[in-house]
Amino acid sequence: MLLELHGPAKSRPVTAAPVPVPQGSSAAARKYGVLPMPKLEWTPAVERETAHLYKRIATVVPAVEWPFFAPYVKAINELKRKRNAVILAHNYQTPEIFNCVADIVGDSLQLAREATKVKSDIIVQCGVHFMAETSKILNPEKTVLIPDLRAGCSLAASITGEDVRLLRDQYPGVPVVAYVNTSAEVKAEVDICCTSSNAVQVVESLGAETVIFLPDQYLAKYVASQTKVKIIAWKGACEVHERFTADELRVYRDNDPNLKIIAHPECPPDVIAESDFTGSTAHMIDWVRNNKPKRIVMVTECSMADNVAAELPDVEFVRPCNLCPHMKRITLAKILDSLVYMKEEVVIDPAIAAKARRSVERMINLKN
Ligand code: SF4
Repeated sequence: MLLELHGPAKSRPVTAAPVPVPQGSSAAARKYGVLPMPKLEWTPAVERETAHLYKRIATVVPAVEWPFFAPYVKAINELKRKRNAVILAHNYQTPEIFNCVADIVGDSLQLAREATKVKSDIIVQCGVHFMAETSKILNPEKTVLIPDLRAGCSLAASITGEDVRLLRDQYPGVPVVAYVNTSAEVKAEVDICCTSSNAVQVVESLGAETVIFLPDQYLAKYVASQTKVKIIAWKGACEVHERFTADELRVYRDNDPNLKIIAHPECPPDVIAESDFTGSTAHMIDWVRNNKPKRIVMVTECSMADNVAAELPDVEFVRPCNLCPHMKRITLAKILDSLVYMKEEVVIDPAIAAKARRSVERMINLKN
């Protein structure tokens, strides 16, 4: 049951990283040095050496675009080895990043878990800022780079550490769960983190009658519908999932009654009610792999359908294309810049990082 809904006094812009971060990466550049920028030419050798990578995305990236991507893909993969770096990419990254340069892919929980096992000195996070912060929180000794510091998130921007402290004052003794789409500063103030994969499990693991759940009001409503725990929610929203409507899904279904519709729990409740399945991005991908529907709408960020379509060419994806402008700030050109110039380094106050680590590790250590 959803008890209360709190929110920021006014909506907060998503124009920059959610917490102040030193600009530039002089410390990382001093430590590792700057490398020469590789030549970026489309040559027969580049074509030959990248042909196996293009095959992975040939069904979703037109051949005419590959000569623009291939020189970057080759240069990034070579620099990765030279730097002993690893690239983590979220499911919402574009196909040429997700399939051709990433070493580890997945949703927030998968990336958070894999980040703890990474052996490389350098992590390049292809995703948004809170994800890069989570990698840094779990890998304080490693250098974590994000190709564009401005890659924020409307959910992470909706709440601050001060907001959490005020909620705690208002509801003394009520445990606080934060979705991973929050800044390190917020994670440091809460009891435990969760992702959309494990939100219900995390809420129930606390053994409390009432739980404060933030910052996504729609995920909070979804969790409230799945558990007996009473939920006090924050009024944040994902600007991408919030745009989907039940009406548009009904139009798709009216045109093809056999169409399958699966939705992310960040969508509004009436959108979820129209869907055949609701789950995190990882669960949505598994659902398509296991069910192999003829036609499907994935009600989530648009690039994910491209990445699943590259893997499952026999499934037809109907695409109401809502792109996340923050995820799309990450490009091959910026990833290459990251590896050449060692920028932009993610820096978190060590005291905040230590407190945030407790909340993230408490989630990771929960038994499945
Ligand atoms: S898709 Fe939504 S939740 Fe994900 S990064 Fe973009 S704004 Fe944030």
